[in-house]
Amino acid sequence: MTLFNQLAELCEELSGTSSRLLMVDRVAEFLGALSPKEAEIAARFLAGHAVSRGKSAALKVSARAVWQVALELSGESEVDESLFADAADFGEAVEMLFRMRRPRVEPTLTLADVEAGFEEIAAIEGRAARQRKLEVLRKLLAQATEREAKLIAKIVVGEMRHGMGEGLLLEAIAKLARQPLETVQRVFLVVGEIGQLAAKAREGTLEIHAAAPKVVRFFQPLRPMLAQSAATIEEAFASLNRPLALEHKLDGARVQIHCVNNEVRIFSRRLNDVTASLPDLVERVRASLGGLAEQGVILDGEVIALDTLGRPRAFQDLMRRFRRAHEIERLSREMPLALYVFDILAWRGELTVDLTYQSRWEILAELAEKSGLQLVARIVPSSVAEGETFFEKALALGYEGVMAKALDSHYLPGTRGGEWLKIKRAQTLDLVIVAADWGYGRRRGWLSNYHLAARSATSPSGFEQVGKTFKGPTDQEFAELTERLLSLKLDQQGKTVIVRPELVVEVGYSDIQRSPRYSSGYALRFARILRVRDDKTPDQADSIETVAKRFEEQVLKPKPL
Ligand code: AMP
Repeated sequence: MTLFNQLAELCEELSGTSSRLLMVDRVAEFLGALSPKEAEIAARFLAGHAVSRGKSAALKVSARAVWQVALELSGESEVDESLFADAADFGEAVEMLFRMRRPRVEPTLTLADVEAGFEEIAAIEGRAARQRKLEVLRKLLAQATEREAKLIAKIVVGEMRHGMGEGLLLEAIAKLARQPLETVQRVFLVVGEIGQLAAKAREGTLEIHAAAPKVVRFFQPLRPMLAQSAATIEEAFASLNRPLALEHKLDGARVQIHCVNNEVRIFSRRLNDVTASLPDLVERVRASLGGLAEQGVILDGEVIALDTLGRPRAFQDLMRRFRRAHEIERLSREMPLALYVFDILAWRGELTVDLTYQSRWEILAELAEKSGLQLVARIVPSSVAEGETFFEKALALGYEGVMAKALDSHYLPGTRGGEWLKIKRAQTLDLVIVAADWGYGRRRGWLSNYHLAARSATSPSGFEQVGKTFKGPTDQEFAELTERLLSLKLDQQGKTVIVRPELVVEVGYSDIQRSPRYSSGYALRFARILRVRDDKTPDQADSIETVAKRFEEQVLKPKPL
């Protein structure tokens, strides 16, 4: 029986390590000392999953609720939150609170105890579910040491931050199983859950699963392949650097459809079985595929909800259909669904993930022809310009953007491997340049890395930084910006020239992240300067509140189940 505290100590050690090699070694060693069942639990927790996915998507306990329980256990009704300003994350805040206010307890919880607690929380539904879930959590936290409470809080809110992502976990499992990483990835593809993968590695049965890679386990969802972002079509071409196709990117919900003979099951992006909520879609797929699916087909696609006039409806409406348990018939009449297929993962009973994307598309195109299934619109552009035209048209038609996919890429379940790139319309903010770094290499002699800031009433300088970029300007613009910024120079610190905050630039970005790097707490991803806004003065630049609001909007968009 392994104590949960040992895992909590391991996580602490991982957070203090920057060597990936060392992290892999430590995790492999740790899992190697556990029973297969315990290795399953530990790997799952390390991945930040409370329960095996598919069975239950989440515990449905918010950070606020965890905090409330932690306060109660500490005998407080509220505390001065500024005491926790130094906490690196939510877990650490809970740990600090327990250290300050709660009597110490000895480590007694086992890995299996914590798993049982999480399973119990996940299983609670219906009347007073929230209250009952919190009671179980209270019992768990009451027995937890400070360090264990930190880890429990992190797992419950899904914010691990120990630097051990899925990629490294797979490496550790490969080491544990003494198998090449590719074998482990292959088996993960079929098994689909990191805990079960670790258990198999510990049992020494990974090889057996890897030996039969083409055998599909129908009605067990594969993890969907994911996309990275590219800022522009040009960047997507450069980054893939080989022939690619562009597809419309629909803003709907991912579905994986398994069909064998006449049985159809549909899984969501998070691998939940949503078949029962979507009988109309099931029926349509069954009717279209008919005899074509005798030996088994798995399709990957996107579903959008339509209004009665056939126009796309808001994403929130679509989620209502996915969660629906009652009056499904009425809702499917009021809110018909449109299915757009973009990939095929199994055909005639065999996995097709090892075929190239182009070959898979060819199978799909033939199948669509015979079945009447609708595929996403797609082109294989021969130039960046052709791609840009397709992108602009997609935006004009109301699509979210386009996906770029390398023609020779394989389907890599669960990976955000950069062989699929999403390109969306850049959002923009008007920001002020507050400093710039001298460039090197090709940009030597120019001030080329610009520190971008939003207006802030609370900051002494009146601005708070939200990003840096050297992307966007042409050579001539770099030269002009350098001259203008030097005329605003206030100070130089190393390679960085601090300037009077006067120059306003329009900045495109893909999304906003929380980041400890800047005092503002936010960082723009894929920032690039679109143009200088000489028509704007710094007091007309966007404020930090706008940045915060945009961030909230991103977060508030409900995640697909
Ligand atoms: P994101 O959720 O922004 O990471 O974008 C990836 C998601 O876009 C996928 O999980 C799909 O749900 C969705 N999507 C829409 N159209 C496509 C497409 N043509 N190919 C792949 N994914 C798509």
